[in-house]
Amino acid sequence: MDLGIRDKTAIVCGASRGLGYAAAGELAAEGAKVVICARGAGPLEEAARRIAGETGSPALPVAADVSRAGDVSRVVEAALEAFGGIDILVNNAGGPPPGLFETHDDRAWLAAFELNLLSAVRFSRAVIGPMRRSGGGRIVNITSVAVKQPVDNLVLSNAVRAGVVGMAKTLSNELAPHGILVNNVCPGFILTDRLVSLIRGRAEKQAVSYQEALDSFTSQVPLGRTGEPAELAALVAFLCSQRASYITGATILVDGGLCRALM
Ligand code: NAD
Repeated sequence: MDLGIRDKTAIVCGASRGLGYAAAGELAAEGAKVVICARGAGPLEEAARRIAGETGSPALPVAADVSRAGDVSRVVEAALEAFGGIDILVNNAGGPPPGLFETHDDRAWLAAFELNLLSAVRFSRAVIGPMRRSGGGRIVNITSVAVKQPVDNLVLSNAVRAGVVGMAKTLSNELAPHGILVNNVCPGFILTDRLVSLIRGRAEKQAVSYQEALDSFTSQVPLGRTGEPAELAALVAFLCSQRASYITGATILVDGGLCRALM
C-alpha cells in the first residue's frame, strides 16, 4: 500500500530511540523527510544517520528538550528552513517516573505536565500555521493505554495523558475545516528502554527476577507478549498518511488486547 507521503516533511519528537525512533524510521521508509529531536545530540545524530542510511530519506537531527518552549520553536524553525514546510507532527517524549500518588510532589506533577502535555500543546500550536499554508496535515500523539485503563504505579502518566486526549479531541474538531487531522495512538507494553526500566523497577521492588517481572506484564496481555516498536510505528505511519484521510479525533490502542474496556 502506498501511503502517499513521499517528500512530505515530518517532525517526530523523542526520536533518538524507542517508539519515536521507530515512527521516524517508518515515515522515512515511506519517503518522508524527517526532522527528529531528543535532548542528547550524540545518540540523536546517530539515530538520524541510521534512518537516512536505511531508508535513503533525509533525516535532520535537532537536539531539543520538548518541555522547553524555546526548543520547540527551534525545532519547527529548523524544519521550515531545511524543507520549506511541515506536513506531519508526531508528538512524543519520555514518560514520567513511576510511583504511587503519595510519592509525587508538586514539582513532579509540573514536570509531567510540561513533558507530556504542554510539549504537545506547544508543538501543535507551532505547526498549525505551516500546515494550513500547505493545505492540511496530520498530528499524531503517542500517549498510552493509560488513557483507557490506568496502569498501576504510574499515576503521573495516567493523569497527564488524559489531558492530551482531551486537548487532541478538541483540536481535531477545530482543525478539521483546515484538513488537519489529529489522532492519538496508545501503546500497551512495547519493548523499549522505558519498558525495560519499568520491568527492572518492578523486579527490584518485588524482589523477583527480571523474567518473573516481565511475565507479570505479559500475563496481562491476551497476545501473551510485549509488542515491538515497529508494530506501533506502522499505525503512526498509517495515521500520518493520505490513506487515513477520514480518521480524526480517534484514540487507537496498540496493546495486544491489554485494555479490557469495550471502547
Ligand atoms: P523511551 O524512554 O525508550 O524513549 C523516549 C524518547 O524520548 C528518547 O528518544 C528520549 O531521548 C526522548 N526524550 C525523553 N525526554 C525528552 C525530552 N524532554 N525532550 C526531548 N526528547 C526526550 O520511551 P518509549 O518507550 O519509546 O515511549 C515513548 C512514549 O510512550 C513515552 O512517553 C512513554 O511513557 C509512552 N509509553 C510507552 C509505552 C511502552 O510500552 N514503551 C507504553 C505506554 C506509554
